[in-house]
Amino acid sequence: MIKEAFNGLRTAWKGLALTLKHFGAASESKKVKGINEANYFGQQAGIATVQYPHQKLPVPEVGRYQLDVVIDDCIVCDLCAKICPVDCIDIESIKATDVIGKTSDGSVKRLYAPKFDIDMAKCMYCGLCTTVCPTECIIMTAEYDKSVTHISDLNYKFASMTDAEAAQKRLELEQQLAERQAAKAAALKKMEEDK
Ligand code: SF4
Ligand code: SF4
Repeated sequence: MIKEAFNGLRTAWKGLALTLKHFGAASESKKVKGINEANYFGQQAGIATVQYPHQKLPVPEVGRYQLDVVIDDCIVCDLCAKICPVDCIDIESIKATDVIGKTSDGSVKRLYAPKFDIDMAKCMYCGLCTTVCPTECIIMTAEYDKSVTHISDLNYKFASMTDAEAAQKRLELEQQLAERQAAKAAALKKMEEDK
């Protein structure tokens, strides 16, 4: 009986000592370490987590987080949408009646993008879209803590054209096509008359 009582006291003391150890450690804050530090994943004394959002863990530069598109550098080639394994990139294009301009890397722009949506709720962060982009205008940013109140808010819209502008560009293209067809028909008619 004395032995059992002694074992009970010893076990209780062990549990209490462990609790006191963690209680003391909790007075220390966990340190935010740089991503290049050798012991980045090392166990630290202190409370279980950093004081998010006041403190944030550093992330690697090559990490895959929220996508961004520099739309002025996009040539609307659709390669990113074609390679996306989950079809979360939705692009519409309108052919321009003339060269629109150039991207920052000198690529010629001939297409407008009335729609350029990326649904980050579907994205699996594979990064394939960023690797095929010829102008490197679709990029993965270091922003990882995106939170929204409605899932539709994760469908990012990058196109800068208004509906009215898109309608105007479609009309201009239709007019150009009609003019070309009329010119072609007139040339054929003249050839027939000259025979
Ligand atoms: S990262 Fe992958 S899944 Fe996400 S949009 Fe790009 S290709 Fe699609
Ligand atoms: S691959 Fe690049 S240039 Fe082509 S549509 Fe996508 S973002 Fe634009």
